[in-house]
Amino acid sequence: MPYQFVCSEGSCQFMIRSSSGDEVERLVRAHVRMTHGGRIDSADLERGMERIELA
Ligand SMILES: [Zn+2]
Repeated sequence: MPYQFVCSEGSCQFMIRSSSGDEVERLVRAHVRMTHGGRIDSADLERGMERIELA
Protein backbone atom coordinates (compact mmCIF):
# COMPACT_ATOMS: atom_id res chain seq x y z
CA MET A 1 0.00 0.00 0.00
CA PRO A 2 1.42 3.42 -0.90
CA TYR A 3 2.36 6.10 1.55
CA GLN A 4 1.63 9.77 1.40
CA PHE A 5 3.08 12.67 3.32
CA VAL A 6 1.78 16.23 3.32
CA CYS A 7 4.07 18.85 4.81
CA SER A 8 2.35 20.89 7.50
CA GLU A 9 4.98 23.60 7.87
CA GLY A 10 3.24 26.96 7.53
CA SER A 11 1.62 27.28 4.12
CA CYS A 12 3.86 24.69 2.50
CA GLN A 13 2.05 22.63 -0.10
CA PHE A 14 4.65 19.91 -0.47
CA MET A 15 3.18 16.47 -0.92
CA ILE A 16 4.90 13.20 -1.68
CA ARG A 17 3.44 9.82 -2.46
CA SER A 18 5.33 6.59 -2.94
CA SER A 19 4.88 2.85 -2.60
CA SER A 20 7.97 2.85 -0.42
CA GLY A 21 7.78 4.22 3.11
CA ASP A 22 11.57 4.47 3.17
CA GLU A 23 11.53 6.58 0.04
CA VAL A 24 8.87 8.90 1.44
CA GLU A 25 10.92 9.33 4.59
CA ARG A 26 14.08 10.09 2.61
CA LEU A 27 12.36 12.63 0.34
CA VAL A 28 10.56 14.31 3.22
CA ARG A 29 13.83 14.72 5.11
CA ALA A 30 15.45 16.19 1.99
CA HIS A 31 12.49 18.53 1.49
CA VAL A 32 12.53 19.80 5.06
CA ARG A 33 16.27 20.34 4.91
CA MET A 34 16.21 22.20 1.60
CA THR A 35 12.96 24.13 1.88
CA HIS A 36 12.69 24.81 5.59
CA GLY A 37 16.36 24.66 6.48
CA GLY A 38 15.78 22.31 9.35
CA ARG A 39 15.12 18.77 10.39
CA ILE A 40 11.96 16.82 11.04
CA ASP A 41 11.49 14.67 14.11
CA SER A 42 10.84 11.01 13.50
CA ALA A 43 7.62 11.44 15.49
CA ASP A 44 6.45 14.27 13.21
CA LEU A 45 7.38 12.27 10.17
CA GLU A 46 5.43 9.27 11.38
CA ARG A 47 2.46 11.44 12.32
CA GLY A 48 2.40 13.03 8.88
CA MET A 49 2.76 9.82 6.96
CA GLU A 50 -0.44 8.17 5.89
CA ARG A 51 -1.15 4.93 4.16
CA ILE A 52 -3.41 5.48 1.24
CA GLU A 53 -5.33 3.27 -1.10
CA LEU A 54 -5.01 3.75 -4.81
CA ALA A 55 -8.25 4.71 -6.45
ZN1 LIG B 1 7.39 21.79 3.56
